[in-house]
Amino acid sequence: MKTKYVYAFEDGNKEMKSLLGGKGANLAEMTKIGLPVPPGFTVSTEACNQYYKNNKSIDDEMVDELFQHLELLEEKIGKKFGSNEHPLLVSVRSGSVFSMPGMMDTILNLGLNDETVVALSIATGNERFAYDSYRRFIQMFSDVVLNIPKYKFEHILDREKDLHQLELDTELTVQNLKNIIQSYKELVKKEWKKDFPQEPKEQLLMAVKAVFDSWDNPRAMVYRDLHDIPHHLGTAVNIQSMVFGNMGNTSGTGVAFTRNPSTGERKLFGEFLMNAQGEDVVAGIRTPQSIAHLKNVMPEAYDQFVTVANLLENHYKDMQDIEFTIENSKLYLLQTRNGKRTAAAAINIAVEMVEEGIIDRNTALVRIDPIQLDQLLHPTFEEKALNEAEKIAQGLPASPGAATGRVYFNAHDVVKAVSEGEKAILVRQETSPEDIEGMVACSGILTARGGMTSHAAVVARGMGKCCVAGCGEIKVDETNKIFKVNGEVYQEGDFISLDGNIGNVYKGSIPTKEPELSGNFGKLMEWADDVRSLKIRTNADTPRDAAIAVKFGAEGIGLCRTEHMFFEEERIPAVRQMIVAKSLEERMTALDKLLPYQKEDFVGIFTAMGERPVTVRLLDPPLHEFLPHSDEDIRMLAGQINIDIKTLKETVEELKEFNPMLGHRGCRLAITYPEIYEMQVKAIIMAAIEVKKEKNIHVEPEIMVPLIGHEKELKIIKDLIISTANKIIASSDTKIEYMIGTMIEVPRAALTADEIAEHAEFFSFGTNDLTQMTYAFSRDDSGKFIGEYRKKEIFEKDPFQRLDQVGVGKLMKIALDLGKTTRPDIKLGICGEHGGDPDSIDFCHRIGLHYVSCSPYRVPIARLAAARAAVLNK
Ligand code: PEP
Ligand code: MG
Repeated sequence: MKTKYVYAFEDGNKEMKSLLGGKGANLAEMTKIGLPVPPGFTVSTEACNQYYKNNKSIDDEMVDELFQHLELLEEKIGKKFGSNEHPLLVSVRSGSVFSMPGMMDTILNLGLNDETVVALSIATGNERFAYDSYRRFIQMFSDVVLNIPKYKFEHILDREKDLHQLELDTELTVQNLKNIIQSYKELVKKEWKKDFPQEPKEQLLMAVKAVFDSWDNPRAMVYRDLHDIPHHLGTAVNIQSMVFGNMGNTSGTGVAFTRNPSTGERKLFGEFLMNAQGEDVVAGIRTPQSIAHLKNVMPEAYDQFVTVANLLENHYKDMQDIEFTIENSKLYLLQTRNGKRTAAAAINIAVEMVEEGIIDRNTALVRIDPIQLDQLLHPTFEEKALNEAEKIAQGLPASPGAATGRVYFNAHDVVKAVSEGEKAILVRQETSPEDIEGMVACSGILTARGGMTSHAAVVARGMGKCCVAGCGEIKVDETNKIFKVNGEVYQEGDFISLDGNIGNVYKGSIPTKEPELSGNFGKLMEWADDVRSLKIRTNADTPRDAAIAVKFGAEGIGLCRTEHMFFEEERIPAVRQMIVAKSLEERMTALDKLLPYQKEDFVGIFTAMGERPVTVRLLDPPLHEFLPHSDEDIRMLAGQINIDIKTLKETVEELKEFNPMLGHRGCRLAITYPEIYEMQVKAIIMAAIEVKKEKNIHVEPEIMVPLIGHEKELKIIKDLIISTANKIIASSDTKIEYMIGTMIEVPRAALTADEIAEHAEFFSFGTNDLTQMTYAFSRDDSGKFIGEYRKKEIFEKDPFQRLDQVGVGKLMKIALDLGKTTRPDIKLGICGEHGGDPDSIDFCHRIGLHYVSCSPYRVPIARLAAARAAVLNK
């Protein structure tokens, strides 16, 4: 059977997003429920995929089907495409399953040419409107279809305005517009080497092709990579009869959200412009007015809009982002979608919708993307420093958060500065999809133009990036890389700070402070805790990190890496002395120096965690990592530890390995130098005794051995741990319980987990190493090729970030099943980076782990992800 590629709005509904794209499906849904939507049709995503299969050409059958639908549309509207009496004009808009900045978005007024413009002028009795529409069409079509840069058209427009001393586009006369059109056409001829296409059907096919092509442009690809949107989905194209917001003072256009997308407040939030077309609102060329003001300008249209907005929110049971046009006082809807929102708004909306009885708790939990919470888990400005800071300008609070950094004026410079370890603020006149990489890399965005729905604002909110937009007080000179405000000049590299919650811009850098989980956020977290079965622990090596994690709801430490403790300035000489020791005696002397430090480390951590479980991992990295390498450093160390330079150099050489990650590290260190683990175990048990005696905190340390591959390794080390720990406990008057377990990081350990479980009371999956060893590529070097693997769709995501469930996951499952055959009550957790990744957490829930462990700032994300896993896998 012939594939159907084109669907009239009457033929679809909101469930058909994968075929019709989000925009098309919602236009169909609104048509179905009887809302005033200008008629039109959608060319499906399947058509786009077919276009790519056909080497980027639209086949004849598809063309026929498209033109048949065009004829039906002509009949419905009573106008004809290309007619010299009542010309039908259409908009052409892309619409993928997920809305995607970076793709071609919109062409309006398509169908106009030198003749239909005259017909339009006569039919409407409004010559100015007709020529204004034509100049807009040439400009948009040339930009997105013919790839002639937009600014060249803007120059022509500005030149005409300057020549006649006009301020606003709305002041342009018919003659001005005709002059502009003439110059536009000359520009097209010069740049495109052909005349501007006059045949409407040719215009239409070119526009459809341009939408399909934009699916694969580099900006769209960056966006898809960033948001994990598969590259094979394709985009739909919506072709809709035009309604006109630029017909005069009873016409206008706008965008509004049913609730505030920054805060979640239940109040219409949006902007509109009278006598304008859609792109004027988003482009930020004229400053739009707040939607509330529409009530004064056109009360009836406003009331109708409020009714429709409520209806749509109740219909979709979610906050809506609605585009509308008013043509001669009549309201039309051009789009609705679930509105993008900040994390704070997402939480407030979800919690309040539960309280309003619109959705239930589980829906609220599932609706919020756990990763988005990240936006709320980062520092805000320190109040004291903020009070002393000098405010230099005020813009719009486009996307919340606090950002401090050096200013850069284009995406390229931002990316470069950030790759060199700097924090950067991207400062632009206004942003466009070309800036996406800079927007991803920077800490905050400042624009001089554009409103709350400008490109910068929408994209920044989606990314959770701090943004101050429309800050008209700053004069940005992108060419010379400066901006001026109040007579002061800020150069590239100068520090500024932005407060995206209120729109303030400050001079210099302002220190930041930790966030809190309170109000609706706290409530949502409680709901999450009620439904999740996975426990959430944290990876923390310091009392400070442990305390942050506890504040965020961590229920224990799943991984305390002890190596970081060795690097502190006071200790490193003793660590190095231990490593270069030539005899057991010498090594013991150095270890004795380290013991009190290690004990204090654990006292601090146990105290911060109260009676929550703490897993301490014994030393893991290859010893050479602690040694100096440059001649200068070696000379200094030799002096400090009183050893001759030559011997020290030889030791450093001896310790060098070809393949350190597969070398003398992890438990292998303790097989050769048991004294190191012995010292660490002493420190752990002594600390547990001390906090019990002095602080009445009962800890039951979980002592974890890294990198086990063979059960005999663990047997030997376990005996060492027991004899060391028991000696200390016996010599004290305190009873301390402890557990001994292992990480599962080596494939052989996973495959022999039944044997290993003989000696292990718990397993913690170290999926960083397990991924590295399963794939046999280095976690430190794979960055060089993983990008290419993702591009070629071998990997959907970096397997060091998202667990490879098929391969590494299978090893985990084997280990877990085998481990349970030996020890049915074995405690199971994960402490690799994947413990903080929502998708991987879902997998951990499904295979029945008891806990996940992640970095402190990820704890709330993991709490929500675990709750979602519980709800979605019921
Ligand atoms: C792991 O390998 O997953 C792990 C947590 O250990 P590390 O990252 O310290 O090697
Ligand atoms: Mg490891």
